[in-house]
Amino acid sequence: MEHERSDKVLGRTHLGVGLIAGYGLCMALGLPNAEATPIMAGAAVGSLLPDIDHPESSFGRKVRIISIPINHILGHRGLTHSLVFVAITYVCALYFGSGVALAAALGVLTHLLLDMLNPSGVPLLYPVKGRLHLLEIKTGSQREKLIFWLLLIIVIALMVYR
Ligand SMILES: [Zn+2]
Repeated sequence: MEHERSDKVLGRTHLGVGLIAGYGLCMALGLPNAEATPIMAGAAVGSLLPDIDHPESSFGRKVRIISIPINHILGHRGLTHSLVFVAITYVCALYFGSGVALAAALGVLTHLLLDMLNPSGVPLLYPVKGRLHLLEIKTGSQREKLIFWLLLIIVIALMVYR
């Protein structure tokens, strides 16, 4: 497939944005840093979770035993890249408490938004057909690296100046 390499946003970029969202949620909930860990963990997992449908993604590679069958059944950027999956993640993560569930769902949402910056887009309104995308930033490009470092600086600034 021509888009095989260019349709993956790097795992570290997803993780960076997920952590920012998680941190933002902690601030919104007024949680002290000490209580932020489970929220941040939920956001981190959520931000990587959608790529469980891709055995070659940074996350999918680590859980091939799950990602290969999911890829066969759903394909890449199918159900797990939709608002339906945001809801599924929220409901499943409620097991860990409503704060973590919110963080995980937010993490998934940031993943979808990031993937929408990439030409392949995501089927956000699955099962309604059609993929949505916002920009044309290719994976591993200079622009993606720039976004990653920018995000990292924002996270550190947030933590220091809180
Ligand atoms: Zn993805």
